[in-house]
Amino acid sequence: SDRFGEKVVLITGAASGLGQAAAFKMVSEGAKLSLVDLNEEALQETKKVIQEQEPQAEVLLIIADVAKEENVKRYVGETVQHYGRIDGFFNNAGIEGKQNLTEDYGTDEFNKVVGINLDGIFYGMKYVLEVMKKQGAGAIVNTASVGGIRGVGNQSGYAASKHGVVGLTKNSGVEYGQFGININAIAPGAIWTPMVEDSMKQMAGDDYGEAAKDFVSVNPMKRFGKPEEIGNVVAFLLSGEAGFINASVIPIDGGQSYK
Ligand code: NAD
Repeated sequence: SDRFGEKVVLITGAASGLGQAAAFKMVSEGAKLSLVDLNEEALQETKKVIQEQEPQAEVLLIIADVAKEENVKRYVGETVQHYGRIDGFFNNAGIEGKQNLTEDYGTDEFNKVVGINLDGIFYGMKYVLEVMKKQGAGAIVNTASVGGIRGVGNQSGYAASKHGVVGLTKNSGVEYGQFGININAIAPGAIWTPMVEDSMKQMAGDDYGEAAKDFVSVNPMKRFGKPEEIGNVVAFLLSGEAGFINASVIPIDGGQSYK
């Protein structure tokens, strides 16, 4: 399919997990990609895999730290310089941080997690919206989490940042609908990516097999989600087919947050 028909899609955290899965999906439907990540090696590898599948694909790589406003300004600027526009933005890079009770949660850790997951999302919207408003069109998906809707525990920084992403999404969605731009958040449950594997190791050590089974036993679907099950929804939201969904938070969690 060429549902994206040459649309330009910008993705942060594109070298792994959900960002990468979304990139694979949208490039297979004709999108031109601008992929942002801190991890240069993984980003190069992602481009290699894409070009093996789609030899004609246009893929711009940008190394940037989303927690730094100047870096965000640069990745948006380089994308516009290269492609002339931004049609879809998957504002996704994030980390989980070290798990701890609130009293033991490091202040530096809190600031680090919020700096990437919340400040980074704000900067991304700030600079991309300037571009989309001039175009009079565009779509944004911000990555929140089940942990941005309900309490999960041991994740002060993560919870604060992801609840913040939900707030930023609703606020900006309400502001920019009038300019033909729709802005939504996704709230994934446990999706099997390197981030969640690290989290399992934190909870149960390297031999986390049983713990992982226990972990998903609370999910109505009794399994982890797959990255492509996120990528598919992001593609729908950014494709233009979902143009009247705005300022919404879409759970993708097997029903976990409605139990
Ligand atoms: P991941 O670790 O597999 O991928 C995240 C990518 O972001 C990595 O390539 C990493 O290098 C990059 N990144 C991290 N910090 C960065 C920074 N400061 N600047 C630029 N790039 C940076 O993780 P994932 O599971 O794909 O997570 C992606 C997003 O989804 C995150 O926001 C995460 O909080 C959210 N999320 C994930 C799950 C899940 O179960 N996997 C659930 C809910 C929400």
